[in-house]
Amino acid sequence: MHELRGIAVSPGVVVGRVYVLDDVRRPVASRTIAAQAIEAEQARFEAAIAASLTELDELRAHAEQKMGTEAADVFAFHQGMLRDRTLIEPIRERIATERISAELAVQERFREVAELFASMPESAFRTKVDDVWDLDHRVLRHLIGEHRREITGAGHDVVVVAAELTPTQTAQFGTDGVVAFATEAGGETSHVAIFARSLSLPAVVGTESIMDIAREGDRIIIDGDEGLVIIRPTDEIVERYHGIAARAAELRARLGELREEPAITTDGERIELLGNIELAGEMHHVIEHGAEGVGLFRTEFLWLTSDHEPSEDEQFEALRAAVEAADGRPVTIRTFDLGADKYTQRRAMMPERNPFLGNRSLRYCLTNLTMFKQHLRAVLRASALGEMKIMFPLVTSLSEFRQAKLIVHEVMEDLEEDGLAFDRRVPLGMMVEVPSAAVMAPVYAGEADFFSIGTNDLIQYTLAVDRTNERVAHLYSAADPAVLRLIKEVVRAGRRSGVPVSCCGEVAGDPVFTMLLIGLGLRTLSATPSRLPFVKRVIRSVDVKSCERLARRVGSLDSERQVSALLRDQARKRFPELFDGRSVDASG
Ligand code: PEP
Ligand code: MG
Repeated sequence: MHELRGIAVSPGVVVGRVYVLDDVRRPVASRTIAAQAIEAEQARFEAAIAASLTELDELRAHAEQKMGTEAADVFAFHQGMLRDRTLIEPIRERIATERISAELAVQERFREVAELFASMPESAFRTKVDDVWDLDHRVLRHLIGEHRREITGAGHDVVVVAAELTPTQTAQFGTDGVVAFATEAGGETSHVAIFARSLSLPAVVGTESIMDIAREGDRIIIDGDEGLVIIRPTDEIVERYHGIAARAAELRARLGELREEPAITTDGERIELLGNIELAGEMHHVIEHGAEGVGLFRTEFLWLTSDHEPSEDEQFEALRAAVEAADGRPVTIRTFDLGADKYTQRRAMMPERNPFLGNRSLRYCLTNLTMFKQHLRAVLRASALGEMKIMFPLVTSLSEFRQAKLIVHEVMEDLEEDGLAFDRRVPLGMMVEVPSAAVMAPVYAGEADFFSIGTNDLIQYTLAVDRTNERVAHLYSAADPAVLRLIKEVVRAGRRSGVPVSCCGEVAGDPVFTMLLIGLGLRTLSATPSRLPFVKRVIRSVDVKSCERLARRVGSLDSERQVSALLRDQARKRFPELFDGRSVDASG
């Protein structure tokens, strides 16, 4: 039995079987295949080669246009290698004779070639070693990465174990019989973690060495409350975890009874509870968990879950489905937030050195105007079908916000010319998720119809802590006084100018923070729907005065440790049943 500690990112406990999902950057696991699977495995390999060749065609054309033929020749060389039967044929043969997976056969063959090139006396060959590895990664990515190993059919109780997952991979788990996952990389609010919560999959990230310890088919426990992974547990431990899971299900059932009850404090203050969604299909979760609408629709998942660039009509259909399913409830659409860890880097000719500080979010939209306008057309067309608000992600300067609004108005004119319906008075708001926007909130308040505080990014940019990096995860905390001061300032700026303010970061769904957020003046919280019953339970048993008292006490503390200790203590004392005697996290 092995017990590994990681970062708890999505609650719940599960007992299942390990399913190893390989990563292109590390040795792939050794896996034998059944004799009758040989042809299918060879076909997977051929498909990966074909997909790589097509991708190289595009890269070559792009390079030629932007940088001339010399740069394009690099890709021509790569294509030449992939068409070279002396390189490719041994891979096919090995799959058949040694009955190994395509991934392993590819990696071993490319390693041989790289070693051969490295040992050549001619420097012309030695300089090609990096090209060989590059090509290896490309083919493997088609086998493993975006085109993941087929999980469907792997049975039930599948617990995915991976070095790292992309948001795209995680998005597909919902349909694959996956019940939980654990990764080596990742942080509490990485998008992979957010997706896990949306899909209600217990998950632990930042689990060092799990790829070395877990073997395919092992029994495994994922404890998403405690951030614990237990590999090959004893029967006694399994029994204990079955008990914990049963108690958690009981608590969920009890909280479910609050569904129709209003989110109202004991002294009568109404708190608006909204849901965060990534896909239109999640709208039923929003309704099931008693949310009053959608406070954040992460529309970029239209790109992350599609194998092609979604057209205007495809986007419109997804948005229409969401607005219609909302059945009169308001839906806040965030225009696509691509970049950083989402989408653009994997496709980039020249990946950015610091993508979280690079051309992401609204900046990306403003430098890809055709794509942005097409998106806005779809969004605005859907605005005719129900109550909608639109907000822009990661606004970092006033001019950027103004430019975005101007483009919305241009698109409105185009739609009018085309005779297409939309809501001309759709509110245009902004996410406040960088310190520059928080500090300037009083100025933005003159131009924004609403603010939505995105603490997930606000924490990382305030504290300079990458939200996806497990090595600095212990420094990432919403309980940091600097973050709390910024939230307070934004709420105050909104109140002074009559601009509604909500919070849609993960902290909004953490019951440990609920009293504090109310005490800071927030009256609208938007979170992963499954977290809302916990938050509502807190709201319905506190009064605003005690929340404000807590906020004042927190305001007098000067360290994250003190703040999170205080929040944890009061949560444990006031709502012991929410935590079942288990540890209370106050970090995200
Ligand atoms: C945030 O940053 O808090 C947020 C809600 O947006 P995302 O998590 O999608 O970056
Ligand atoms: Mg964000």
